[in-house]
Amino acid sequence: MVEILRIENLKKHFQTAQGVVKAVDGVNISLNEGETLGLVGESGSGKSTVAYNVVGIYGATSGNIYFRGEDISMGTSRRPKSLKKDIQIVFQDPGTSLNPRQYIHEILAMPLRVHRIVPENEITDRVKELLELVQLPTSFIFKHPLELGEGEKQSVAVARALAVNPSMIVLDEPTSALDVSMQAKVINLMLELQKEYGFSYLFITHDLGVMRNVADRIAIMYLGKICEVAPAAEFFQTPLHPYTRMLISSVPVVSEEEERMRPAKVASRGEIPSPVNVPGGCGFHPRCCDATEECAGAIPEMVEVESDHFVYCHKFKQER
Ligand code: SF4
Repeated sequence: MVEILRIENLKKHFQTAQGVVKAVDGVNISLNEGETLGLVGESGSGKSTVAYNVVGIYGATSGNIYFRGEDISMGTSRRPKSLKKDIQIVFQDPGTSLNPRQYIHEILAMPLRVHRIVPENEITDRVKELLELVQLPTSFIFKHPLELGEGEKQSVAVARALAVNPSMIVLDEPTSALDVSMQAKVINLMLELQKEYGFSYLFITHDLGVMRNVADRIAIMYLGKICEVAPAAEFFQTPLHPYTRMLISSVPVVSEEEERMRPAKVASRGEIPSPVNVPGGCGFHPRCCDATEECAGAIPEMVEVESDHFVYCHKFKQER
């Protein structure tokens, strides 16, 4: 497996009137070529802030992000143009990410022009090809986003990301604004495109259920930190972190096998605290049924419990 993205001890802090918000506070994850990594967490966990650092909307407070070995932890303004093109993003709400005044032709032609992907006289043909790639009629070039359904708009947003032939696409809750049938359609489209073109996906979501059939590996975030990272099958079969177990125990299941594998229901205790006032030690300790004295005093270190299965919890100690 060839690694395409490596995030090392990434921190992104914001100064606010209430104090310093440690939105991302020491994240380590990696992504391989052609792989889908699901980055999952509740609202306020910091998962979208990680995404915005990867695409360069934010520069890192500290730590490093390497794309094919090159440090890209500064914002996009200081990134080479070739790297800006290589990493694309599909946002949650296509209604706000697509300019309602532009024709679909203009929306898709812009990245082709900016990055000089094809000569001017081939732009319309390429725009039509992009629409076909995302299974939309080519007649849509004459429509505005407001004339399209939500799923169609999100497919246009996907086409715009594909326009510059990226290697990696960050999907920031790409289906959460869609109804269930449209969610399935957009996800199937993304998987088909990945099979054909080998894209790597960093898939940001709060919906762990969506990840079951989509992700190769899953990373769970809580209050700016990673709790657990594991291959998807193992993740659902043997979740280790108490927070992961709490999340999985409330994911709806659709088969007897999934029901058998599901951990016993773990009651959710309280809400995610404010990121301005993060508890000391393990940030999950006020909500954790397994918390001990150690948990309130010390931040747990990463332990590789099985090959490629990492957990940050004092219940697990690295064998030396
Ligand atoms: Fe719970 Fe302690 Fe593990 Fe944190 S470190 S998840 S509080 S057992």
